[in-house]
Amino acid sequence: MTRATLLLTLASCAAVPSGPAGERTEEPERLSPPVEGVRYRVRVDEALRRMGIRVCFDGRPPEVLVPMSSSAARVLVGAQGDRGQPLRHEPTGRIELGRLGRGACVRYEVDLARAGGRQAVRRGSDLLVAQALFLWRPPRWAPSVRIAIEIEGPPGVHVSSAWPRPTGSQGRVLFRPDRSVWKAPGNVVFIHAPPLHVEVGSTQLEIAILEGELAVARADVERWLTGALRAASAMDGRFHRPQVHVAVVPVGPGSRPVAFGLVRRGGGPSVMLLVHENAGAEALAADWTAVHELSHLALPRMHREDRWIAEGFATYYQEVLRARAGLITPQEAWASLAAGFERGRFRGRRPTLWRDAERMADVGRIYWAGAAFVLDADVRFRQRGSSLDRWIGRFRPSWQGSTDAWRGLEVLGRIDRLFGQPLARPLAIRYGRMRTYPDTDTLLRRLGVRSLGDRRVQFDDEAPLAAVRRAITAPRDAVVNAE
Ligand SMILES: [Zn+2]
Repeated sequence: MTRATLLLTLASCAAVPSGPAGERTEEPERLSPPVEGVRYRVRVDEALRRMGIRVCFDGRPPEVLVPMSSSAARVLVGAQGDRGQPLRHEPTGRIELGRLGRGACVRYEVDLARAGGRQAVRRGSDLLVAQALFLWRPPRWAPSVRIAIEIEGPPGVHVSSAWPRPTGSQGRVLFRPDRSVWKAPGNVVFIHAPPLHVEVGSTQLEIAILEGELAVARADVERWLTGALRAASAMDGRFHRPQVHVAVVPVGPGSRPVAFGLVRRGGGPSVMLLVHENAGAEALAADWTAVHELSHLALPRMHREDRWIAEGFATYYQEVLRARAGLITPQEAWASLAAGFERGRFRGRRPTLWRDAERMADVGRIYWAGAAFVLDADVRFRQRGSSLDRWIGRFRPSWQGSTDAWRGLEVLGRIDRLFGQPLARPLAIRYGRMRTYPDTDTLLRRLGVRSLGDRRVQFDDEAPLAAVRRAITAPRDAVVNAE
């Protein structure tokens, strides 16, 4: 579909009657009530560049529509009422609807060519786009709000996403995500090769591979990600999610198998992995990135200044879970932890860990001082006959499905309450306030991990916490179960 025909189709959309569209009301209502239901119809042109969106409301429409992110303002081309009357939009991307009648519809158009960064990633004729670039939301909505998103891609293009879908993957695809789709970014992928669907235990894994020259076959990608999902389940023995989506984005050659990973949670969990095209099957299967991203899903999203807790958590678990699942040896896992602690190390004093996390000032410190905290906490739970794994699993039902950002201390306080005594929270306060690097050498020595350099370690089974070290990386049969 060219731009001209797309606009034409949008215009023909407008002819479909849908209640008293576009009529202004005379009711003296200052604040529009929370929205009860929203139906989006998204049409994408053949170049996967322009999107025309028609939004209809059940009941009273809001007076404005707002973008989910500041970058969305850049892609907005224009907005119209259903009778073609232009709607005012601000440089922030906010669209003024005015007072429309019940059941009214409006339209707007976005140009993805104006998007930058990782919100719109193009490979050949395929596209990954964050829904934040095309989904404008009402400012308020009812807790029971119904959201339907129908996406119509060009012929031969599959639409792949983590969102719950009652119908097909080609042509018109109808999704019915929950309101988390308005709260956090999520991935929607337009691909020409059909996505892979794998059942891993009771979790449905959908894999969308964008166009590129990957050295590995699709079956290798499937084996890699199935293994990563099993490893992520070796935390407390379950994966806890009925559905997870992974987008594999081939990028040019590199020395590591995976260049970058990112998890997005809006509407359902979706992991984006930038994979170097020259990566081999074995290197991918042993790589840490997918396990790291999937591990993030064991805890809720956290605030920016608590990133050291969230990243420390995924960084610690990426190593120990791969060892438990047999993807790497315990020696390799402990050697990676020891090497990471060295990479994050700095001399002297710096601002607190919380402050550096807020400013994203020293990524090495945020990840590895964070991982040192999580290892320290896990060791302390284990010295008391328990484990961090266990309480993360117990904590899950109370937040699962929510995409709200949590305070790190609230998360850890809840874990402590389940455990029955303060442990993780006071320890986090100590680490968070640190201006120096944590003493990881003493911690590793007590666990019986001696670094030999060159990413090699020797175990000391006489060390006071040698049994704890063995338990942390002991093989674990994981049930990939959505319960
Ligand atoms: Zn991470």
